[in-house]
Amino acid sequence: MPESVRSGAKPKPAAAKPKPAAPDRRVAVLLPLPLREAYDYRIPDGMDLGPGDYVEVPLGPRRVIGVVWGPGAGTVESGRLKAVLRKFDAPPMTGAGRRFVDWVAAYTMTPPGFVLRMAVSVPAALEPPKPMLAYLRKADAEAPPGFKMTDPRRRVLALLDDTLAGGPPRTPAELAEEAGCGITVVRGLAEAGLLDPVMLQPTRLGRPDWHRPGPSLSPDQRAAADDLRERVISGRYSTVLLDGVTGSGKTEVYYEAISAALEQGKQALVLLPEIALSAQWLDRFARRFGAPPAEWHSELTGAQRRDTWRAVAKGEVPVVVGARSALFLPYPDLGVIIVDEEHDSAYKQEEGAIYHARDMAVARAHLGGLPIALVSATPSLETKVNADSHRYARIALPARHGGAVLPEVELVDLRRDRPPARHWLAPSLRKALTDTLAGGEQAMLFLNRRGYAPLTLCRACGHRMQCPNCTAWLVEHRLARKLQCHHCGLQQPLPHACPECGEEGTMAACGPGVERIAEEVAELFPEARAAIMASDTLHGPRAIQEMVESIGRHELDIIIGTQVMAKGHHFPMLTLVGVVDADLGLNGGDLRAAERTYQLLHQVAGRAGRGERPGRVMLQTFMPEHPVMQALAAGDRDGFYQLEAEMRLEAGMPPFGRLAALIVSGEDPTLVERVAMALGRAAPRSETVHVLGPAPAPLSLLRGRHRRRLLLKAPRSTQVQPLIAEWLARVEIPPAIRVQIDVDPYSFL
Ligand code: ADP
Ligand code: ZN
Repeated sequence: MPESVRSGAKPKPAAAKPKPAAPDRRVAVLLPLPLREAYDYRIPDGMDLGPGDYVEVPLGPRRVIGVVWGPGAGTVESGRLKAVLRKFDAPPMTGAGRRFVDWVAAYTMTPPGFVLRMAVSVPAALEPPKPMLAYLRKADAEAPPGFKMTDPRRRVLALLDDTLAGGPPRTPAELAEEAGCGITVVRGLAEAGLLDPVMLQPTRLGRPDWHRPGPSLSPDQRAAADDLRERVISGRYSTVLLDGVTGSGKTEVYYEAISAALEQGKQALVLLPEIALSAQWLDRFARRFGAPPAEWHSELTGAQRRDTWRAVAKGEVPVVVGARSALFLPYPDLGVIIVDEEHDSAYKQEEGAIYHARDMAVARAHLGGLPIALVSATPSLETKVNADSHRYARIALPARHGGAVLPEVELVDLRRDRPPARHWLAPSLRKALTDTLAGGEQAMLFLNRRGYAPLTLCRACGHRMQCPNCTAWLVEHRLARKLQCHHCGLQQPLPHACPECGEEGTMAACGPGVERIAEEVAELFPEARAAIMASDTLHGPRAIQEMVESIGRHELDIIIGTQVMAKGHHFPMLTLVGVVDADLGLNGGDLRAAERTYQLLHQVAGRAGRGERPGRVMLQTFMPEHPVMQALAAGDRDGFYQLEAEMRLEAGMPPFGRLAALIVSGEDPTLVERVAMALGRAAPRSETVHVLGPAPAPLSLLRGRHRRRLLLKAPRSTQVQPLIAEWLARVEIPPAIRVQIDVDPYSFL
């Protein structure tokens, strides 16, 4: 194995002269593996390599793909140096792309190779595209004698029926997956002469056309769009908060920035918190620019990922819309980044490399010298404070487009306006629902809790059904007839008898989930067309889109939804939004609980009255005097932010202070405890730097691993990474124990 030749996260300048002592030509290659350093390799005769080139190199017995990170360091003797095996025919990773990998690694304290893995996530994309075998159904073909028409074979043929009428050919893998059979079934049909083979070239997306005119903008919108355009054309780094109420035309405005980037021959990247939920956004983009953007998210097939990655690298994709991982695509010349719903906590990646995509996007813009717009009606406090202090510019859109008014928000005080026993909708909300339905309009009930009931207990002995792998109650899903753990995915049947005391028929559901609200709605309004909209009742983006369209066509009267519903959808006939439990997010000691609750409820409220009819929002709460509820009712966004900011400042919490968490986990609780204690003793402490813990994590058992947390708190001016690096170096961590570092934590579970 080649020796490591470089440490630290800073790339060596590519222009450094080779050392005269080393007669061989060598390069440092970073590999997409959890490695802290790039390794030296020899450049074989006849090969030309520059920084950013994708190469294949030997690593022990394996061949791995890597990226030329800089000149070799020359510390390994020539005789022991292995040679680069081949160079891929792909445009090299740009300097900005490589600096970004190094920067993310240094900031999040993740090995650079591990971050690189996100940037070369589809190695197959480096190989030249192969035409793919696909099939059509052959017209009038008869099965040969003795060929048995089994059910799987019939299903495959049925899938291909539409190809007789001009439907697209399908690959064997697609057919096997859709028909739920093995590939051999498809091959058997082909050998029997029932299918027509065709060779497919990778699909090319149409190119969005910036010449197409957008809508005529209002004066406010025009000023905002011109400001963004100028930033894009200047080609310099800046961060702008695009701050405007829902429906003020923020999307129309940032389309202008995208158009400006395309005009410059550059690419645009739009990040959305949950791209799989954003069918409406994609349709709208296609209508505006005449062609869809390229999508990048976890729902893509392997072939789509490969084609998209390659097309982006070759500069054939002008606009990418994606989830956080889209930041790591190989853009040749990015001209603008848009982060829509920038406050959304889905931007925080909590597994693997732990990073916040909004913050990393700002770093990417800085390193690439390009403007970035953070877009929200309810910005994160971090961004708000940066805009208030002029570190970020602000563009405001104060009014809803076309004079639509913001909905009226009423608080329903559950202490007085009580629902009947084992029911959850207060009399005033019931009355509002009745009126809305009578007026031929739509209503939505929002409860951010999937399933039927969050807790099941025995009425005889009080036993509560808990997950054996996690510190969590099992959630009853009555439609699926199961108890489920929402953390590890464990499922088990609902017991008839209590597993503790053995009494039969005593297990009772406690509290509501959306399924239980749907039951109450059916009881109250048996005639109404109602449906649940939650991630586990809708399978995949297509199902969500169908539901959204069906609501838009007014085929439903009442929608009972979780936060899947809260996102940017636009329903003109929806005039009433009832929030079943507005207090839900406020429990559980999270630093951002109030902020998040405010943002979520504000966004949910924004679903009402998006058309010509005014909207009405009712929040059921036990705490009507809470600042979050007061601010929502008064429409006093900035008042809420100010209060929240004062409290954070007082406590030295973000964005005025810095936090970093260490999560110690392992299967052996004693060992976990011992390591956590050792880390506690070795913690850095000074007048300004404090370490809290170790304490059992609220999820002290997760997927069978025991967890302890330590939290470092420091002033904003402190660089926490070197402190943590020194801290960890003082403690020996046994291999059975994992210590995760979470810089700027958002989850405290
Ligand atoms: P936001 O992103 O701030 O929520 P949108 O850009 O989605 O706002 O605009 C809300 C609605 O108003 C959309 O249906 C949009 O097409 C429409 N709209 C906004 N600005 C204009 C405009 N200048 N002309 C026509 N329609 C507009
Ligand atoms: Zn579990």
